[in-house]
Amino acid sequence: MSYPIAPGGLAAVLAHPDDESFGCAGAFALAHDAGATTRLLVVTRGEAGSADGSADPAVGDVREAELVCAARTIGLDEVSLLDGYPDGGVADQPFDTLVSEIAAWLADRRPAAVITFGPHGVTGHPDHVVVGNATRWAVERLADAGLAPNAVYVVSPIFDPSGNRYDLSPEEQAATHRISVTEVAQRKVDALACHASQADIGEEVAALRAAIEDGRPIYEGYHRVRPLVPAPHPAFDAALL
Ligand SMILES: [Zn+2]
Repeated sequence: MSYPIAPGGLAAVLAHPDDESFGCAGAFALAHDAGATTRLLVVTRGEAGSADGSADPAVGDVREAELVCAARTIGLDEVSLLDGYPDGGVADQPFDTLVSEIAAWLADRRPAAVITFGPHGVTGHPDHVVVGNATRWAVERLADAGLAPNAVYVVSPIFDPSGNRYDLSPEEQAATHRISVTEVAQRKVDALACHASQADIGEEVAALRAAIEDGRPIYEGYHRVRPLVPAPHPAFDAALL
């Protein structure tokens, strides 16, 4: 299969529309502006993101449109959605099939670096956890075929301007890379604002806006999990690619 955009670059494999804007919008925007190909694979359509958490196909349609809005704002060259994975129920689907689908998506595109969720999935959402696990298994399968990306990162939101409000795993707490996203912070705000159907967007947007207005530096954190960065970690690296 061929694509009109180049292989390599930066890719992320995440669970829901809006994970990209919370998690790695800044790194994507910087990579895009530097000329790298940027790609996102989202496993669910987020149809359970309704007020009461029940699945609603119309909510999935809204969230897919919000994802397109965010992708344009961030500068994503390609966004893919998997079929057949219910929002909130990814862990109930055959894990090996999910690994195979992610591996096939990566093998077709050959990104240089891949971002996914760490062991606690930032928020503890079970979809995040299983997508992170499946992505790391997919990379190991690709490595057996000599097709692994150069680097795999998990999102480590310890530099979040709204403060660390999550119960992170040790891996997610131990960032190895601190990416300055100050210059693209407004795009991160705008991308988050695309996901207007989601109630928890407001707090993140307000924190980022306050940081921008105060002139504070804004960072995204990542832990490189493949190849592992030996402990103790050196000074933070500042680039993913
Ligand atoms: Zn999510």
